[in-house]
Amino acid sequence: MVMGPTHAMSGAAVGLAVAQILPEQWGGVTTAEETFIYAGLAAGAALLPDLDAPSATVSRSFGPVTQVISRFTENIAQTFVNVTRGRKDKPCKNGHRTATHTIWAALAAGVGATALIGAFGKTAVIGLLFFLLGLGIRGLLPEWSKKTDWLIVTGLSAALAYAVWSYVPEESFGVFLGSAITVGCLTHMLGDLATKQGIPAFAPLLPLKGRRWWNLKLPKFLSIRANGPADRILLAGFTIAVIAQIGLVASGNMRDVMVDLLPFEVVAQDPGQDLGQDYLGQDLGLGLSP
Ligand SMILES: [Zn+2]
Repeated sequence: MVMGPTHAMSGAAVGLAVAQILPEQWGGVTTAEETFIYAGLAAGAALLPDLDAPSATVSRSFGPVTQVISRFTENIAQTFVNVTRGRKDKPCKNGHRTATHTIWAALAAGVGATALIGAFGKTAVIGLLFFLLGLGIRGLLPEWSKKTDWLIVTGLSAALAYAVWSYVPEESFGVFLGSAITVGCLTHMLGDLATKQGIPAFAPLLPLKGRRWWNLKLPKFLSIRANGPADRILLAGFTIAVIAQIGLVASGNMRDVMVDLLPFEVVAQDPGQDLGQDYLGQDLGLGLSP
């Protein structure tokens, strides 16, 4: 896999962009604060799929708690693969990079988060933020050797979640935030897709030659090595993208710039009003021409 920092930073960069691209009229973010919450959730969710690896550093985010969650996730994933495998799939002995690395898991996580936010509003957002920021912070930090590092991670994410709870206005906790979880998970999957092993993105629903748990891979020349030069270049690129976007969001110009960069139109405008204006303009033009 690409390293934790690359996963976390790519999640933040993509989260910031997506939060801005989706228009408010479609239920998108409404405030700069909500944009940052969206990015925080996406950054943490970009580590979420690797909770299926008890040995991964992200599984130490909240010490014994995430270790237990991780072991549970890995076992469930392994069982799930063995129950659903095709006749040509080998028996699964380790659930890492299986069930949690599918687009179905990414969609389910987003739907689950959206339902939670729909039911519990701000409380659910803060809960998700606390948990996911823990994963994100753990992912961002380089390897630590100390066994107690999870206490620092827990304290830091609790402090950040508390600050958001206290200072962010009520209207910044929309249901739309749930989609950040799917965005983060999909970004993680793209990162893993770029490695030699690939990911079972469509398993187990899309069988291929008797296999249901086949891995989607990029052509060899495009695959990268964890912590190799390409990984570091990606990390640098995502870091620049995050810093630039934070500047734009803070200055209030982000949405305009992002929408201008897109090759297609995404802003849901009021068609009646626009058509009316065009029509009027045309009318006037015709009226004035000789
Ligand atoms: Zn992974």
